[in-house]
Amino acid sequence: MEDFKANLNIIEQNIKRACLKAGRERSEVTLIAVSKTKPIEDLNAVYELGERNFGENKVQELCGKIEAMPADIKWHMIGHLQRNKVKYIVDKVALIHSVDSLRLAEEISKQAIKKDVNVDVLIEINIGDEESKFGVSTEEVIALVSDVAKLPNISVKGLMCVAPYVVDSEENRAFFHKIKDLSIDIQDKNIDNVSMNVLSMGMSNDYEVAIEEGATMVRIGSNLFGKRDYSKV
Ligand SMILES: *Cc1c(COP(=O)(O)O)cnc(C)c1O
Repeated sequence: MEDFKANLNIIEQNIKRACLKAGRERSEVTLIAVSKTKPIEDLNAVYELGERNFGENKVQELCGKIEAMPADIKWHMIGHLQRNKVKYIVDKVALIHSVDSLRLAEEISKQAIKKDVNVDVLIEINIGDEESKFGVSTEEVIALVSDVAKLPNISVKGLMCVAPYVVDSEENRAFFHKIKDLSIDIQDKNIDNVSMNVLSMGMSNDYEVAIEEGATMVRIGSNLFGKRDYSKV
């Protein structure tokens, strides 16, 4: 069994150190516990340690865990979202991190109207231009933000990226910097219904660098819950 308390302490210390280094407040950064593939017991153990933000990447697993866990958790949809599954989550999640097309945003808007809710979303950017990853290119992002902004019952709150897997996190610094720059460019356009207060970037491998470059949400799975075993899923 993982020592979640020890893991969380290490992560907390690292977040604090990165904030200090960047002259930022600890309160500016939200830790999202990425619990995909992990059993409810593990989520409960981390919940008991005070964690209230959890991230999942599959709709079915997310819905099951929402049912099983306490109601004061903020759930984050961080994985690729298919349009036909939007209806299952729009009124259950605090934030959808992975909007990467106008068609997806239109479906979120439509389902949000049906359920009479407003849905906060981030626009996902494929910052490393990797074929294997979802997200729009840096050239496409401003057009997409402007289009999504016109839709009812959906609000753009910022940007998200999954940076390339690297051994040395310094290799991703320029990517995180670029996302921050982009968010400033978009903020400067003062588009109605758009704010750029949230930058969801940084994972187990590179969250300290991401925080130094302006991340407001870091999504941490394996460093908190331990390695994922996909053979059991
Ligand atoms: C799995 C996942 C994470 C967490 O990854 P770790 O490297 O285990 O911290 C973060 N973001 C997304 C989108 C993920 O799918």
